Amino acid sequence: MQVRITVSFPYEAPVSQSLFDRASVVTPGGVNSPVRAFRAVGGTPRFMVSGTGPYLTDADGREYVDLVCSWGPMILGHSHPEVIAAVQEAVSHGTSFGTPGAGEVELAEEIVARIAPVEQVRLVSSGTEATMSAIRLARGFTGRAKVIKFAGCYHGHVDALLAAAGSGVATFGLPDTPGVTGAQAGDTVVLPYNDLDAVRAAFAAHQGEIACVITEASPGNMGVVPPLPGFNQGLKGLCEEHGALFISDEVMTGFRVSRAGWYGIDGVRPDLMTFGKVMGGGFPAAAFGGRADVMAHLAPAGPVYQAGTLSGNPIATAAGVAQLRLLDDAAYARVDAVSTEVRGLVTAALAKEGVAHRLQVAGNMFSVFFTDAEVTDYDKAKAQESFRFTAFFHSMLSQGVYLPPSAFESWFVSTAHDDAAIERIAAALPAAARAAAEATA
Ligand code: PLP
Repeated sequence: MQVRITVSFPYEAPVSQSLFDRASVVTPGGVNSPVRAFRAVGGTPRFMVSGTGPYLTDADGREYVDLVCSWGPMILGHSHPEVIAAVQEAVSHGTSFGTPGAGEVELAEEIVARIAPVEQVRLVSSGTEATMSAIRLARGFTGRAKVIKFAGCYHGHVDALLAAAGSGVATFGLPDTPGVTGAQAGDTVVLPYNDLDAVRAAFAAHQGEIACVITEASPGNMGVVPPLPGFNQGLKGLCEEHGALFISDEVMTGFRVSRAGWYGIDGVRPDLMTFGKVMGGGFPAAAFGGRADVMAHLAPAGPVYQAGTLSGNPIATAAGVAQLRLLDDAAYARVDAVSTEVRGLVTAALAKEGVAHRLQVAGNMFSVFFTDAEVTDYDKAKAQESFRFTAFFHSMLSQGVYLPPSAFESWFVSTAHDDAAIERIAAALPAAARAAAEATA
């Protein structure tokens, strides 16, 4: 087992730093997706140059055990030989045709075969597109305008869904970011997560106006905050009662927490579902699907327009099909076992240092909250001592373990996290737990 020397922050990553300096000249904030910039934890974002199995290597030549897995997609680890072979085979035939192709049919069939509520599916290129299109379809189908979403749930950067995406305040349609107008967010009703009474009250206040309720099947974007027992079922019941559609966003949980995602765990049948991440095998592929009578409203079958130049791209679909076909029961059992083991190590190390924490779990997804209290909504998530996470994160990073650079994100593991990778995590944890214990606000 390799033992790494603990260094305190700041520490050196000169090549990453120089790439970041160059990037900051030509790209806002130096990154193409904000959380990559390390703003929540400080320090130099690592520019990665390669990934193999459970490891990433940065531009300075340092290797890390990866507990981010590209924010979920890399459930088989990096550079899985069969996924790479499928991509190489696909790319040898060309990269994009702008016509229908066999790969799209195979990927759609794979999704429909796994997830019973999905009778038909439309492929897109990002989770954002999937939720945006599902909302449009729900509005087109019901002829209603309003959408209920939950504070702390993230559904991509769709204008209407950015309302209070990062706020725990239950409010009506106040835009959270400049550039989203009141008109765009005005039909969004934002409610506290896990609060069925609030949903009941919103349906009563907006009789006949609510097109859909959209929720993360089990939220991972405020840290891991699973639905309380009966919450998803309650949402479905209220939607049925009021003629609204129930949309379950499984971009993060889909094909990750089980063969059939969170639906495979709680069995609550949505009208529409959204997918991304794992189904693309590391390429931009995402989807929305569900009831055939609802999907029939989509162009060209129906009047609700939706399209994409690169939708169903042959390389992305080849990667997705290869990855999904490798994800059998044994693969999920392995990911679950790795998750259980890593969680046990993290909690033991923190407990040993007397650090107040809660490990919250949804299938094989998990995150650590630095608080004693159970976290059931975004307000409670924000009440944690996130300064402890910063110290913990940098200690782990300096010892070669790459965690999500935010206290409000899920951690992800893969089938490739073997004993050697887990030993490296175990070796890094005592110092990181001590750093968390000693951290001050
Ligand atoms: N929905 C959920 C639950 C997500 O976690 C994400 C991204 O993290 C999205 C939607 C948006 O997906 P994308 O980043 O592919 O646009």
